[in-house]
Amino acid sequence: MAEKRKFQAIKGTRDLLPPETELWNQVEQTAREVFSTYGFGEIRPPIFEPTELFARAVGGETDIVSKEMYSFEDRPAGIPDPRRFMELGDYVLAIEEGIRKETIPSTPSNRDSVRTFRSKFDEFVKVSSMLKTGFHSGGDPIPRAYGALLMECIYFAQTIQLGEMLSLRPEATASVCRAYIEHGMHALPQPVKLYYTGPMFRRERPQKGRYRQFYQIGAEVLEAIQPGHGGAKDIFKDAATDAEVIEMVMEFFARLELQGVQLEINSIGCRECRPKYVEVLRAELLKVKDRLGPDSQRRIDTNPLRVLDSKLESEQEIIAKLPRISEHLCVDCAKQYEEVKRQLGLRSVAYKENWRLVRGLDYYMRTTFEITAKGLGSQNAVCGGGRYDGLVELLGGQPTKGIGFAIGEDRLILSLQEAGKGNVAKGRDVYIAWLGEKTLATAIHAAKTLRAAGFRVELPPVEQKFGKALGQADRIGSRYALILGEDEAASGQWTLKTLADGTQAKYTEAQLLEFLMKAKVS
Ligand code: AMP
Repeated sequence: MAEKRKFQAIKGTRDLLPPETELWNQVEQTAREVFSTYGFGEIRPPIFEPTELFARAVGGETDIVSKEMYSFEDRPAGIPDPRRFMELGDYVLAIEEGIRKETIPSTPSNRDSVRTFRSKFDEFVKVSSMLKTGFHSGGDPIPRAYGALLMECIYFAQTIQLGEMLSLRPEATASVCRAYIEHGMHALPQPVKLYYTGPMFRRERPQKGRYRQFYQIGAEVLEAIQPGHGGAKDIFKDAATDAEVIEMVMEFFARLELQGVQLEINSIGCRECRPKYVEVLRAELLKVKDRLGPDSQRRIDTNPLRVLDSKLESEQEIIAKLPRISEHLCVDCAKQYEEVKRQLGLRSVAYKENWRLVRGLDYYMRTTFEITAKGLGSQNAVCGGGRYDGLVELLGGQPTKGIGFAIGEDRLILSLQEAGKGNVAKGRDVYIAWLGEKTLATAIHAAKTLRAAGFRVELPPVEQKFGKALGQADRIGSRYALILGEDEAASGQWTLKTLADGTQAKYTEAQLLEFLMKAKVS
């Protein structure tokens, strides 16, 4: 018999359960409502995509892509797992057929691997038939050859690339851009405004507010650049779009009454001015290299901007004296940044400038922003976003502008709960305490009627003594108990007990509905 195993959710993942899921639904519902008032429609991209998509969009050098993705090789349906050596014979046939039909990539290295695998497999079959023909004492070379060939077969089987590398999505902007290109959305009226909600996956070290499966609510505005447009001409228009997107997130947070919301903004320049700034920064960092920690020292080479992100106490004073990007923005970037700030002012959105806000994803340019909230400890960022003109083009589309954000829903919920806003209505409205076989039909009818009117009703499957029923109604947090005995069923006069104060009164079905409707409103 299989060993008993207690299964548990994998580290960094968790079950979201009632009543907390009520709050999750409310938050998502509010997002839908607010975003739709700004003209956004929902997109639901797949959970996995080619690894290459994320490598290109997010950046191969970022932590997300280089260390944190959950990736696996795809393979055509019906191919057995090569590690199950009992099926090696089926496997070799399936692979050869796959190469012939090109359901498996027919690359030179794959064809080579299949040939080697086939010859090892044939040898293995020969030796295994010899093994079956007689007794072999210890030290006999045949069992040893058998073992070695088997290992080789398994090894070569695994050198065959059965399909493309896929990854669970670590974020969704890349998918939205891919979908924009795939569905020819540049031909729709521009801009295209899309939002999404759903799980993302990153292999990070779990802690409060940081999970390996976490949820984001995000939105993107994509706009194909028409011939003769773009560049300096669009600075004011783009700034207005940036400001409206930020306004929308802030409106969403206000609707949720999220506490301690702080918006920080920055401009990280463009392809023209940022590289120049990075060189100035690198030169300055080299002068103080000895006083920096090992992470920052490494980043001088790989990505000097990320040094600005450092939380290391000993580096703060040094970083404060580094050259700031605002002093190195090109004319267009500087104008755009000024206009974003003006537009935020017009929309009464309070913000703080933070020249050290660089964000960890490669695709951002110009406007970047981050929003923090209360009650989250060190992981207090609930939203990050920015402009990413050029990303669609990088993924094979035509020149397109983009701006978007992603809200960490887990953290948003944590912050709401910390502020005591997590106490969503739970329990039931009415518990139907019924007794007597003849009463069941009335009880079923009452439950149907009340549910149709939108009340949360618990109908126990078997009759209960009234004392037990009332106890149960109390335990599950029901507001009322509808008491139905044979007398009530016969007379049509139903007894409703208010559990909080123990009062009770009799009603006809119509009166009961009227009473409950009024009580719901009050
Ligand atoms: P990013 O996609 O890295 O810009 O993150 C956007 C937002 O997603 C962050 O501000 C966080 O609120 C949230 N987030 C990112 N990574 C995690 C994680 N591992 N666990 C929980 N929330 C996360």
